[in-house]
Amino acid sequence: MNILEKRILDEGIVLPGNVLKVDGFVNHRIDPEFFMQIAEEFKRRFQHLDIDKILTVEVSGIAIAFAVGLAMNKKVVFAKKNVSKTLGDDVYKSSVYSYTKGVTYDVMVSKNYLNKGDRVLVIDDFLANGKALEGVYDILNQAGAELVSTGILIEKGFQNGGKRLREKGYEIESLATIKSLENGKVEFENSVDF
Ligand code: 5GP
Repeated sequence: MNILEKRILDEGIVLPGNVLKVDGFVNHRIDPEFFMQIAEEFKRRFQHLDIDKILTVEVSGIAIAFAVGLAMNKKVVFAKKNVSKTLGDDVYKSSVYSYTKGVTYDVMVSKNYLNKGDRVLVIDDFLANGKALEGVYDILNQAGAELVSTGILIEKGFQNGGKRLREKGYEIESLATIKSLENGKVEFENSVDF
């Protein structure tokens, strides 16, 4: 069992609808030292790749991507979900449907921060149905940037996103993959120690 799986077992709460609450160390409170340990594992998996920048999605992806950016000495760009006066119109934009929230939202990246030919590592907190990642991949496509790989903190293996995207040829590394959340119990698959 790795340090992330242990933390999920110790602090994660299974909510109705197969949702895993990890507010205590991912989505509401964060533990910088723990995220730096996580970042070292992402670095171990991705350091052989030629990467120009890291791309994530606000809000929860930012802290993880920041830690990976620090460990790998790469700049981090985060896709915005909210329109702001400072963002302007010159953006790459994609629509994402969230099953957990039941809403569709836009993800946007300024054309200033993503360039044609950029070699990009995508980092995010959860992979469930894969809609968030598809939105990010669409943005990379619009920019003419190159997706190098994807690092996910927690993959819900019983939802179809990871399987579907890998079948399409995307390379995705997940640090903890959940096999089942049935009866309030978290079970993992493909466990890798770190
Ligand atoms: P997807 O687009 O792959 O279905 O879901 C990805 C997004 O949904 C993540 O960015 C995350 O915000 C949210 N999400 C999906 N399932 C869960 C879950 O069980 N727990 C939490 N905390 N977030 C989830």
